[in-house]
Amino acid sequence: MSSKISILLVEDEENLHEALKLNLELEGYEVTSAFDGRQALKAVQSEYFHLLILDVMLPEMDGISVTETIRLQNNDVPILILSARNASADRVLGLKKGADDYLSKPFNLEELLIRIRKLIDKDQRMQVKDPSGDVYSFGSNTIDFRAQEAVTKTGERIALSKKEVMLLKLLIENKNEVVTREKILQAVWGYNVYPTTRTIDNFVLSFRKYFEEDTRNPKYFHSVRGVGYKYTE
Ligand code: CA
Repeated sequence: MSSKISILLVEDEENLHEALKLNLELEGYEVTSAFDGRQALKAVQSEYFHLLILDVMLPEMDGISVTETIRLQNNDVPILILSARNASADRVLGLKKGADDYLSKPFNLEELLIRIRKLIDKDQRMQVKDPSGDVYSFGSNTIDFRAQEAVTKTGERIALSKKEVMLLKLLIENKNEVVTREKILQAVWGYNVYPTTRTIDNFVLSFRKYFEEDTRNPKYFHSVRGVGYKYTE
């Protein structure tokens, strides 16, 4: 487990790749390498990254198609594309398909590092604590209610069921207050379908597994015996 900022570096020119990787690691980033477009997509689908550095000219699948595919999968990860010198058509197309920024080769390393920092900062500012919004962060967890997914304390991206999202939202919106079983049943399961007490318990046990450092000594998700449940921070 790591609290480092993770970057996926997609560049097929080996010398440039190695030089970038080294410099990014010196800046304290955790770098995962991909050398073609397919590897890049595979990595994005199985791991969470804070940022992608994506060359346009790549074997297998070019960087613009990679960007387009990632956005079609509803993934908002910041993407910085690296285009060939004077390839302004690539840059425009890349931005159009959803890249956040670009640099043309050859670029200045200092400038690359500044742009990376800015993209990551901007992305984190957008994930502010706002229970009424789509994204909610607590501890080192982040829940995206709209996308029905969460990034857990270990950096793992998990899919949430619709009911999990509803229950999480209900508990978080009532932070520091006990939400009664009746209210949960009514809000999440509707009037007519009554799950057993165990069902809600199992949901809360899952939340602890996803989000608590110590599942036996929960910090966020509490059961209040005989009454209901409470989310605290
Ligand atoms: Ca290339």
